Amino acid sequence: MIPFNRPYLTGKEIHYIQEVLTARKLSGDGSFTKQCHQIFQEKFGFRRSLLTTSCTAALEMTAILLDIEPGDEVILPSYTFSSTANAFALRGAKLIFVDSREDEPNIDAEKIAAAVTPRTRAIVVVHYAGVACDMDAIQQIAFSAGIPIIEDAAQAIDSYYRGRALGTFGAFSTFSFHETKNISSGEGGLLVINDEKYDLRAEIIREKGTNRSAFFRNEVDKYGWVDVGSSYLPSDILAAFLFAQLQELDKIQAERLRVWHRYAHNLQFGAEQGWFSLPFIPDYATNNAHMFYLICHNLNERIALMNTLKEQKIFPTFHYLSLHNSPYYVDKHDGPLLVNSDRYTDTLLRLPLFVELDDDSIDKISDLILKHFKK
Ligand SMILES: *Cc1c(COP(=O)(O)O)cnc(C)c1O
Repeated sequence: MIPFNRPYLTGKEIHYIQEVLTARKLSGDGSFTKQCHQIFQEKFGFRRSLLTTSCTAALEMTAILLDIEPGDEVILPSYTFSSTANAFALRGAKLIFVDSREDEPNIDAEKIAAAVTPRTRAIVVVHYAGVACDMDAIQQIAFSAGIPIIEDAAQAIDSYYRGRALGTFGAFSTFSFHETKNISSGEGGLLVINDEKYDLRAEIIREKGTNRSAFFRNEVDKYGWVDVGSSYLPSDILAAFLFAQLQELDKIQAERLRVWHRYAHNLQFGAEQGWFSLPFIPDYATNNAHMFYLICHNLNERIALMNTLKEQKIFPTFHYLSLHNSPYYVDKHDGPLLVNSDRYTDTLLRLPLFVELDDDSIDKISDLILKHFKK
């Protein structure tokens, strides 16, 4: 049996968690949270980091920070996870879905400009598979219209656009440490704030609408309810887990890249035969090996390939049912057809990719795929 994912453990998680237990400081913003924030700043240049309970929580914080209200419009890709949209739907925003690119699933920057109206309050981009969106083009549109960018960088840790870390482009960016992501704490996330005008309010929203963070810094002599908010900060137990993973980030990335490149090498022949296509990575983007996928010709071919693999107890997955066609939104969507998003919905297949996937297994999966098409 080859599962789709097997979360990697460095072995040091339990050691750092034990330190938290010994110190009896279990709630959020303890020493491990601070150490994680420092690593993010030093390694990636994130101006201000706040660990959150999930990427979903971080996205919800951005919608509150931008004061998104009913009637406001938010531009986002349709080919993404529900959380990208939910954060804004929760505040009553009208979602303006934009199609994916023809050559890869990221939002098509050329189609964003036409979606901008005087009511546009945010442009949310998702770096799909950790591959950067076309940030120069997107920033040009956003800056000239004075609209903030939010990067849903859930999949994009340790990935770069023209040498600059993803997560440093938007007014905000959000990361996920769910167990399916490159580094994880089981569940967990990060809000990066690149515009200092949001620093203070972000702390307040994360701490149940109180100015407790300022109180702990001795900036106020008592703390109370000063704004809306919720509970978005994770326990230091989770930060200790994440800290162990961050320390081994380079090793984790090297192993994931090993898997990715072995698939790409093995499957190149099938792509040359026109049986499927391999991921396309634009020149300006790096590959953080978050995901390896094939694009089939149509839904039936994907189903057939999945069945072949499942018969051999190998479990690939597909994902993202276009959000504009989802049961929740289909009646609300009044925009154009989004043909590329719908095409990836039907044809994209993700292969198992995790640190401990050995070369023999990768070769076995690749051979099965090639044999499937040769017949
Ligand atoms: C995983 C993921 C999320 C959700 O992350 P959580 O930490 O589970 O909330 C949001 N957006 C994208 C693009 C994701 O891949």
